[in-house]
Amino acid sequence: MPDDTAELEARLEEQDEFEPPEEFVAQANVSDDSVYDEFEENWPECWERAAELLDWDEEYDTVLDDSNPPFYEWFTGGKLNASANCLDRHLDERGDEAAIEWVGEPVDEENRTYTYEELHREVNEFAAALREMGVGEDDVVTMYMPMIPELPIAMLACARIGAPHSVVFAGFSADALATRMESADSEYLVTANGYFRRGDALDHYEKTREGLGDVGHDVSDVVVVDRLGDHGHGHDLESNEHYYQDLVEEQEGAEIDPVSRDAEDMLFLMYTSGTTGQPKGVKHTTGGYLAWTAWTSQAVLDVKPEDTYFCSADIGWITGHSYIVYGPLALGTTTMMYEGTPDHPERDRLWEIIEEYEATQLYTAPTAIRAFMKWGSEYPDQHDLSSLRLLGTVGEPINPKAWKWYYQHVGDESCPVVDTWWQTETGGMMVTTLPGVKTMKPGSAGPPLPGVDAQVVDVNGDEVDAGRAGYLTVQKPWPGMLRTLYNNDERYIDEYWAEYSDTDSDDPDDWVYFPEDGAKIDEDGYITVLGRVDDVLNVSGHRLGTMEIESAIVGVEGVAEAAVVGGKHDVKGEAVYAYVITEDGYDEDEEMRDRIVEGVEDAIGPIARPEQVVFTPELPKTRSGKIMRRLLEDIANEEDLGDTSTLRNPGVVEDIQQKVAGD
Ligand code: ATP
Ligand code: MG
Repeated sequence: MPDDTAELEARLEEQDEFEPPEEFVAQANVSDDSVYDEFEENWPECWERAAELLDWDEEYDTVLDDSNPPFYEWFTGGKLNASANCLDRHLDERGDEAAIEWVGEPVDEENRTYTYEELHREVNEFAAALREMGVGEDDVVTMYMPMIPELPIAMLACARIGAPHSVVFAGFSADALATRMESADSEYLVTANGYFRRGDALDHYEKTREGLGDVGHDVSDVVVVDRLGDHGHGHDLESNEHYYQDLVEEQEGAEIDPVSRDAEDMLFLMYTSGTTGQPKGVKHTTGGYLAWTAWTSQAVLDVKPEDTYFCSADIGWITGHSYIVYGPLALGTTTMMYEGTPDHPERDRLWEIIEEYEATQLYTAPTAIRAFMKWGSEYPDQHDLSSLRLLGTVGEPINPKAWKWYYQHVGDESCPVVDTWWQTETGGMMVTTLPGVKTMKPGSAGPPLPGVDAQVVDVNGDEVDAGRAGYLTVQKPWPGMLRTLYNNDERYIDEYWAEYSDTDSDDPDDWVYFPEDGAKIDEDGYITVLGRVDDVLNVSGHRLGTMEIESAIVGVEGVAEAAVVGGKHDVKGEAVYAYVITEDGYDEDEEMRDRIVEGVEDAIGPIARPEQVVFTPELPKTRSGKIMRRLLEDIANEEDLGDTSTLRNPGVVEDIQQKVAGD
C-alpha cells in the first residue's frame, strides 16, 4: 500500500463526521436545509410534493384520511396507473433512452437494453397475454423469477391491468412458494425454466413444479420464461403452462389501456423474509407507495432522468421493488439490473459493470460491502469509477469501518454515502441523511427524512435522552406505509401498532408505529439503528430486551457476536438462551462462560442471567445478512424448525441443535 493511502486511511479512521462534497451539493436535487421545517409546519400537506411527481388520471381530494387509525388512507379520491407513470408518460421525451440496462451472467455475453419505447411495447404485449389468460383486476399474480428483464416487465404488466403482483425471491424453496401462493389465493404464476449463476445453468422449473404440487387450490395458468435456451434441461410443459416468449409473440403490437386505479387500490403484496415467524403479506397501494418511492429516489438517491442508476439488490426483495423498478422508472431514468453474483467471473464484477455503463449511483448492502472489503481494494482500484456521484446502503447497520472503506475506495471521497433505514413495511426510505444537505456520520443512518416523525422511546413510550438506547417508533403515518397484512387486519395491529398505541382510541395521535428495531439517538437527532429488538423476554415476570442482553455479552472480552432468545422454562416462564461467537484466540470454555454470565449480571442484573450459553462458529443468517432468531428460538424450545430456505448458511442450524441437545 503506497504511503499516501496509509496516511489517508489513518486520517479517515479518526474522522467521524463528513460534509457533503461541494460538487455534489451544487447539483443536488435537494440542497436546501429549509425542507425539514417546511415539511414539519405543513404536515401532512407536505406530501403533495411527492404526489406531484406523478401523473394522476383524477386528482385526489384528501391528502390523508386518518379517520380510522391505523388504517390510514392517502391521496383518496385520486386515480392513477403505476405502469403509465413508469412508462407511457416518458415516451414523448425519453422514448429512445434506455429504461433498463440488463447485464446477464456472462455465459452468452448477452446483455440487453430496453428503451422506454421497447419496454412499453413488451409490457403491453404481456399485459394483453395475461388478460387473455383470464387475469382480472385484483387477481394476485405470483412471480418466482430470477434477475431477468421479464421480471420487471411482468410486474409492470400486472400494474397495467390492475392485478397486484406478489414476487417470491427465486432463491426461496418450493415450500416458500407454495405457502405464499396459498396465503395470497394466487391462481397465476410467472416463473422461469432456470437461470445462470457462477457459470452454471441452474434449473428452476423442477423447484417450481414441486412448489405448485403443494398449493392447495387450483392454479389456472403458469407462464415460463425460457431463460436457458440451449442450456435448458429439456422439460415438457404441462397443458396449463406456456412459454413467455410464445405469449408475447402472439400479442405482437397489442396495446392495453392502463386501468385507472384508486390511489388506495393494492399495487402489490410482498411477503417479508420471515426472520420472525410465518411470512407476512405486506400490502402496498398504488398512490402512496409510488409517490413515496419516486420522492425518496429523487431526494435521497438524487436520481435524475439522464442518470444510469445501479442498485445491486434482487428484485425479489423490497429494495428491488422500490429502488430498481418503481422509484427510478417513475422518474424516467435508466435503471440497471444484473444477473449472477459479484464475484463471478471475477471479484470485480460490479466495478466492471459500473465502469462500462458509467453508472452514476450505486445502492447496495453492508454485507456486500464487507465482502468487497475482505476481497481487497485492488478490485475497485483497477477500474475507473469516476462516473459515480452517490453511494447508498440498506439492509442492516453498517459499521464505520465498512462505511469508510466504501467512501474511500468506491467513492474516491467525492460521493456522499446515504445509509438508509427502512423496511418492507415502510415501502421506502425513512431515516437517512439528505445527501445534498446533511453532515454524514458513519455508523449512524441519520435524522428522519423531512415529514417523517421517527422517535426513539423507552418501554413506556417516552422519548429517551441522547446517547441512550431504546426502541425506534414512527409517530405519524406516511404515504408509503403498508396498509395492512393481507387478509389479516388483526395481525397488522398486533405486529406493528399494539406495543405503543392505545388500540381503543380513534385519535390518530394515540397510534404509534413500531418497526421492531432498537436504536440510539444523538444530540443532533441522528439515529443509529441497532437492529431488530425482536422479543422482549418475560423472565419471572420481568421484561427484558434481548438487545440489551446482547450488548452486555458483546461487551465481554473475547466475544465477537451474540444472539439472545427466550427458551421455555417451567419456573421462570422464559429463560435467556445466549448463542455466542468468540473471537479468534479465545477458548470456548467454562471460564469464558462464567465471564459472559458475570458480564450480563453486572450490566443488567441477576434476573437476566443466561440459562444456557451456546458457543457456535456461526449464527444462522438470512441471505441479506440478518440473524434468524426465530430458528434460534425454535432450537432453544426444541421445536420443529420449519422452513430454513431463507438461510444463507443452513448447515449451521444442525450444528447448533446438536450442541443444545448435548448440553
Ligand atoms: P422479517 O420482517 O420478515 O423478519 P426483515 O425485517 O429482515 O424480515 P426487511 O423488511 O427486508 O425484512 O428488512 C428491514 C429491516 O432491516 C429493518 O427493520 C432493520 O432491522 C434492518 N435495516 C434495514 N436498513 C437498515 C439500516 N440502514 N440500518 C440498520 N438496520 C437496517
Ligand atoms: Mg422486518
